[in-house]
Amino acid sequence: MSITAHSEGECDRPYHSPIYDALIICEKMKLSQSQAEIKKFQEKMSAAHFCADNALTNAEEKSIHDQLCSNPAEYACKKDFTYLDQDCHFLPSTFAQAQETPSFRAAKCLAERKVKLYKMSAVPSLMNYSFMALYHTHELNQAIFDAFYTKERIKIATDAFNKVKSKYLEMIAQSKTIPENQKSYLAKRIMVTHLDLSGDLTKLASDHPDCYIKTDPPSTDIAMVSNDDGSGNTVHLCLGAVANIENTNINDLYLTFGHEISHSFDPCMIDRLNSETHPHISETIFPGLMKCLLGNKNSTSCGTGTVLHCNTPAGIKTYCEENNKGKPADYEKCMDIANKTPHCPWGKRDPEYNENDINDYKKNGPPVAQIQESFADYMGAEVTGKILADQPPTLRDQNNLLTAISSDFSSIHGRCLNQNTIDPHPPGYIRVNRTIMSSPDFLAGAGCSHPPQTQFSGQKCEGI
Ligand SMILES: [Zn+2]
Repeated sequence: MSITAHSEGECDRPYHSPIYDALIICEKMKLSQSQAEIKKFQEKMSAAHFCADNALTNAEEKSIHDQLCSNPAEYACKKDFTYLDQDCHFLPSTFAQAQETPSFRAAKCLAERKVKLYKMSAVPSLMNYSFMALYHTHELNQAIFDAFYTKERIKIATDAFNKVKSKYLEMIAQSKTIPENQKSYLAKRIMVTHLDLSGDLTKLASDHPDCYIKTDPPSTDIAMVSNDDGSGNTVHLCLGAVANIENTNINDLYLTFGHEISHSFDPCMIDRLNSETHPHISETIFPGLMKCLLGNKNSTSCGTGTVLHCNTPAGIKTYCEENNKGKPADYEKCMDIANKTPHCPWGKRDPEYNENDINDYKKNGPPVAQIQESFADYMGAEVTGKILADQPPTLRDQNNLLTAISSDFSSIHGRCLNQNTIDPHPPGYIRVNRTIMSSPDFLAGAGCSHPPQTQFSGQKCEGI
C-alpha cells in the first residue's frame, strides 16, 4: 500500500458532522443556566437527531426517572434520536460513529502531527487512510497508540476493569445461590480474565481488526471484544471506545466490562470447559438462572413461554448434518458436543448477514441461541447494581445511567426493534427491558421499584 503526500490534511480544515456538532453543542449547554439558552441548544441538537436533558428541576428529574424505569429501552428510541446523558456522555457504538466524535478527531489529528514530525518522505494524512495502511512502521504505530491510549485513559479503563473484577469476586464469596464447592472455580475464571492494553497495535490490529481498525462494513465492536486464548479471556477496549472513555458514563462502562468479563464464566464457556468431568455444570452453578432468562419455567431449552431464541433438537441435528456431510464420526462428535453445551449457539445465521444494516434484521435466516449473550447482559447488570450499592447514586446519576444504557443498547444489534432478530444478541428492547431490568441488584441501583411491565418483561431472576 502506498501513501501519497498531502500538503494540507483534514486536520487543517474545520470539521462538522451531526455527532461532532451535537457533542460540542451539548458541552456548551451543560455550562448554561439560562432556560431560554438551553432551549436553543436543544433545538440545534435535535436538528441533528440528538438530545440531552439539562438543568432539570427535581420534579422533572423524578418524572424522567418514572419514564425510564417503566420503559428504559423506549426512552432513547423515541423519535429515533440519540440520547446523551445530562453530562453529554456518549459511547459510540460503531467505528464510523466513533470517528466523528471530537475526542477521536483530536487523537487522530495529534497522531497525524506527530507523524509529520518524523519528517517522512511521504507525509500521510491519517484522515484519508485506513489505519491498516500505517501499521508498518514502529514510529507510526507508536504515534497512534500514544495519541489514543493516553495514561489517563488507560487508568480510567484499568480502574473500572479492576473494580468490576473485584466486585465479582466479592459477590461470589458472599453468594448464597452458588454451591460452596464451585466458588473457587468461578473465582479463578474471573482472575484469569485480563484487559489487553498492551499497546502493540500492529498485533492487535491483525488479531482483531474489528476492534482496532476501520473495517468495511464498519464493525459494531466499538466497545470491546473478548476472546478465549485457552488459559483465560482477554478483553479489549476498542479504539473508538478508548478515544471517548472520558465521555462515557462510568456506570455504563462497568456494565460493559461486567458483560465482557462474564463471558469467562458464561454457561456456554463453563459447560464447554467441563464437558467431560462435570456435564452441564452451568446448571449446578447458576440454578434456575437460564430458565428465568429464557422465559421457560420448566426447562433450560425451548418451549412454552420462551422469549429468547434457543437451540432445538431439530436445529442441532440439521447444523451437525450440514457441517459434517459424509463424515459420520464427525457428525457424532458434533452431536455429542452440542448436547453437552446446550447454552452455546448451535445453528447459523444467513451468511450474507450484515449486523450494521437495520434491514438485515428482518432478513429470514435461522436464528441463533441468545442465552449466552443474555447471561452476559444480566451479569453486567448485577455487578453494576452491586457497585452502585457501595456509593448510593443520586436521582440524576440514576437517570444518567438508564439514559446511557438505553442509548447504548438501542444503537446496536437490532436497535429499537421490539421483535426478536436472528442475532445472538437480542435487540436493545429485550436486552434492556427484559434482561438487564430482571436483575434485582440493578433495579435497586437504578432506583426502580420493579421491572418494566412491557412485552417480554416483568420478571426478576436470581443470579450470583
Ligand atoms: Zn457478549
